[in-house]
Amino acid sequence: MSLGLSVRGFWRCMRLVIAIDGTHLKGRLGGTMFFATAQDGNEQVHPIAFGYGDSENNLSWEWFLDCLKGALGHIDDMVFISDRHASIEAEISKVFPYATHTICCWHFAENVKKRFHRKDVAAIMNKAARAYTEFKYNRYMGELRNLHMGELRNLHKNAFDYVEAVDPHKCSRVHYPQRRYMVMTTNVAECINSCLKFARQLLMLTLAEFVRNMLQRWFHDRHRAAQSMRHQLTDAAHLVMLKQVEKCGYMTVNPVDWNIFSVKRSGKQWTVDLARKTCTCNKFQMVHFLCSHALAAVRYINSKQSYAILSKRDCHYFHCFCRKRNLDLTSLCSDYY
Ligand SMILES: [Zn+2]
Repeated sequence: MSLGLSVRGFWRCMRLVIAIDGTHLKGRLGGTMFFATAQDGNEQVHPIAFGYGDSENNLSWEWFLDCLKGALGHIDDMVFISDRHASIEAEISKVFPYATHTICCWHFAENVKKRFHRKDVAAIMNKAARAYTEFKYNRYMGELRNLHMGELRNLHKNAFDYVEAVDPHKCSRVHYPQRRYMVMTTNVAECINSCLKFARQLLMLTLAEFVRNMLQRWFHDRHRAAQSMRHQLTDAAHLVMLKQVEKCGYMTVNPVDWNIFSVKRSGKQWTVDLARKTCTCNKFQMVHFLCSHALAAVRYINSKQSYAILSKRDCHYFHCFCRKRNLDLTSLCSDYY
């Protein structure tokens, strides 16, 4: 089941990252409900499709993904994110050969925690997966190998093999070949799971009607919320931008040329290129959203006079940033926000 509004919404303004998951039904007939979910620019769950099958096996996943492909059509550079279920990965490569698949780093860390019974190992794996630079990724993995893995290899052979078997390109942000923006987990799919917590006891048709009603209500409320937004960015993206503004207050900026700036803070240095929308922290180009260093560069361009009028309460201050060079801050971020 896929509503027209879900598909059109995804086509028009969603990041091409789809979380897929399945949940066991508790009704008289049992079975599993499959769902595919995206995340909108306001960091809200945007369900795309629901399906019903007997269990999480290859055939059921293939059928569901086939239906999803029928609803969405061909999209280049699509990213699927899921837990480490073997069937999902195999069927995605079969049905969506042009898409890539990544592992939810939260699920991975949780599995590590359960197998090793060590929270610290899971925490380091999680940090490594979320690192924006190869240097940081290698530092965390080095820490893991030096401090724990020798000891863990002897204590938990199976768990050690589980970690070693993971391809870093599968779960780490810095190695991933496609754009996955800020989406590192299947949280959106877990949200659907929790919304269906009680409805899972219903029979299939009643459950389908429950889902349809729920989506109708969500889309109506969001449409109203979107109309009342006062910024060009979504409310969630606006809040992220505010946090970045706080960070960039302590940075010093030296121009290299018209578009390139050297940004320093606490002995560290980054290079921002506003024309290419890149920063050596990698966050700017990976998330497609202004990092604090890029914001510091924009602030520099627009002089202390503009900066003085900045206020967290002033929703138009972003544009004051860019007045002199007619830079629109939203143009430096992806349209998805
Ligand atoms: Zn940066």
